[in-house]
Amino acid sequence: MIRVTIWNEFIEERLFDDVQKVYPDGIHKCLEAFLSLNKDMQVRCVTLDDPEQGLSDEILGQTDVLLWWGHHDHDAVTEENAERVKRYVLNGMGFIPLHSAHYCKPIKKLLGTSMCLRWKHGEREKLICVNPSHPIADGITEPIVLEQEEMYGEYFDIPKPDEIVFLGWFSNEEVFRSGCTFLRGWGKIFYFQPGHEEYPIYYHPQIQRIITNAVRWAAPVNRRTSDYDNEEA
Ligand code: ZN
Repeated sequence: MIRVTIWNEFIEERLFDDVQKVYPDGIHKCLEAFLSLNKDMQVRCVTLDDPEQGLSDEILGQTDVLLWWGHHDHDAVTEENAERVKRYVLNGMGFIPLHSAHYCKPIKKLLGTSMCLRWKHGEREKLICVNPSHPIADGITEPIVLEQEEMYGEYFDIPKPDEIVFLGWFSNEEVFRSGCTFLRGWGKIFYFQPGHEEYPIYYHPQIQRIITNAVRWAAPVNRRTSDYDNEEA
C-alpha cells in the first residue's frame, strides 16, 4: 500500500470565485478523488491550516509520497516545516511538487537553485512525452493538448534534471521542461508543470494518469530510518 499525502495550501479556492468554480472543495480534493480510486494507494489530504501546517513528524512519518500544491503564500510555510519535508525526502519519501509549487520552500531547499521561470496566463499547451519508456509515461502515447493553461517558459532555473519525461510547447511559441525527475538522497522527486488553479487541468484523464504513475514511481523502495551520519565501517 502506498501512503499518499496531498498537501494543499488551500487559499485561492476560498479567495477567488473563478478558482472556486473549478475546484469547489479545493485542488486537494480533486487530486484525492482520482488517486483514491487506486487499490494500491491510501490517500489523505492536509492543508496549511492544519496543526503544524499538516507537516508534522506524525504525518510525514506515515507518508510514502507527498504531493504539494501551493502558490499564494509559499512564505507562510515555516522554515522548520520546510526543513522537515526536506529531511524526509532525503530519507526516502517521494515528493511531487505540482505547477506553482516550483517555488515552494521544500523544493528550493532540495534543489538549491532559484527555481525561477517565465509565465503567462491562458495559452494552449501541447504536453509532449520525450521519454516514452519511463514509468511515469506509462499509457501516455500521444501528446496531451490542454486548451488553456498557464504558460511556463524557459529558462527554468533548475539543476540539471536526472530525467526529462515531458516537454510543454505553448501557443505563444515558448517551451518548458514540464515533467522532470530528480534524485535527492534516497528520495525521488517529480516536478510536473500542468495545474494552474483557474483551469480544470486535474480533471483531465491523462493528466490524472501521469500523476498516478508518478506516485507509484516516487514511492520509496527503501527508506533510511535515521538521519545520515558517518558510520564506522
Ligand atoms: Zn498558475
